[in-house]
Amino acid sequence: IGTMAWNDHRHFEAYYAIPCMGAICHTINPRLFAEQLIHVVNHAEDRWLMIDPLFVPLFEKLAGSLGDVQGYIVLTDVAHMPETALENVHCYEELLSNETDEFKWPTLDERAASSLCYTSGTTGDPKGVIYSHRSNVLHTLTALQPNVFDLRAGDCVLPVVPMFHANAWGVPYAAPIVGCKLILPGPKLADGEVLYDLMDKENVTLAMGVPTVWLALLEYLDANKLKLDKLQRTIVGGSACPTAIMDAFRDKHDVFVHHAWGMTETSPLGTFTPNLYDHPGVKADEIDRLRAKQGKPPYGIELKIVGPDGAELPWNGEDYGTLKVRGPFVCSGYFKLDHSEAHDEDGWFDTGDVATIDARGFMEITDRAKDVIKSGGEWISSLELEEIAMQHPDVAEAAAIGISHPKWAERPLLVIVARKGAQLSSEEVLAWFKGKIATWWTPDDAVFVDELPHTATGKLNKLEIREKFKDHYTTD
Ligand code: AMP
Repeated sequence: IGTMAWNDHRHFEAYYAIPCMGAICHTINPRLFAEQLIHVVNHAEDRWLMIDPLFVPLFEKLAGSLGDVQGYIVLTDVAHMPETALENVHCYEELLSNETDEFKWPTLDERAASSLCYTSGTTGDPKGVIYSHRSNVLHTLTALQPNVFDLRAGDCVLPVVPMFHANAWGVPYAAPIVGCKLILPGPKLADGEVLYDLMDKENVTLAMGVPTVWLALLEYLDANKLKLDKLQRTIVGGSACPTAIMDAFRDKHDVFVHHAWGMTETSPLGTFTPNLYDHPGVKADEIDRLRAKQGKPPYGIELKIVGPDGAELPWNGEDYGTLKVRGPFVCSGYFKLDHSEAHDEDGWFDTGDVATIDARGFMEITDRAKDVIKSGGEWISSLELEEIAMQHPDVAEAAAIGISHPKWAERPLLVIVARKGAQLSSEEVLAWFKGKIATWWTPDDAVFVDELPHTATGKLNKLEIREKFKDHYTTD
């Protein structure tokens, strides 16, 4: 059963009802392109779709291409049921009101499939990741560890990360276990005003989401001179969290940012930064450096980094290599794909990320393997260039890409969105790098755009950016 819905109570009900009746809850990302949507619904063999009323017009267009779908349940009440040309459509609340409250829940094998989520790469068809009841429970217990989410009954959690992306980082399962309040923000996931109002009225203590969401919130707070009084912590992941966001949360709002890393394939928790102010052996002057890393693997996750020959690299914080991960909630293969290069027989999953791990086990992503900039055979971390660019007060967003260069094979180019009203030149941006990194890492040029393209899960779409600027260093 596919769901295409925002973070709301009906989607939450479906999260439990579908797997517990023995079906599979396939959460669908509405930001996929039409062809990808058709692919995932058909590949998953979805038989029913539970959809938010906002998506009814979309499915009216797609319905003819969705082979196995028998009907639609619109997640609303009778008063808000839209007119639609879709066939075999039901109203969620009306269906429920016609049933008794009794249901004989089946006893299921813990290894039975519970839910399904497709990754949203920039190339090729999305790949399906199946979660079992067992892996979801183990992931939830791991997430609840004190040095991880540390959720308590008195918390109030706001997952701004969507429920259609990697189970909203497991919070819909974790919050009910400890009995804390869960606030589901509905469709306006990146609206600073909506988020602030919810946090303020509902006394949110912990919020979680990708960096772009927090940029919107922090901008709104600045513009309206507001302070987050009740929020204590945020969990930021999905993309590297710029230190400018961590500083703003800490210095203006007294909120600690837990930087975390994970993937759809890891359910998604992979590494997590504990509260560093309260962590044995962490000195005050180390905190700023450590928080920029993506954190430590919780119990349940094993990490290793390997070089090009597959040999394991030391945990010294300097050697970097392909990050591999293993554990009971790391997927062992993709749905209906016989073989994947990323999975090996020992259960190690090749993340496609390049990372270092230091002696204390803190992992730092230096890049996506395919985004590393290779200048004259040496690697430059695009994430580090972006991080430095984003520290400039007039830079709103930055992408560093490697593009063809006649002499060095590839050289970095910086593509920038300047803050509204800022007067910023390429020379100023490039001068900003002086003294912060090796000279040969400094991008050869910086160009300005009104906005940068993002993927369906909110990451920079570097493929598209590279395509647009591919000739920048090779033409006059
Ligand atoms: P997804 O499966 O869509 O959640 O994407 C997973 C990918 O997002 C990872 O393989 C990383 O490349 C990236 N990612 C997730 N969290 C972080 C983070 N904190 N810093 C850098 N990259 C991240």
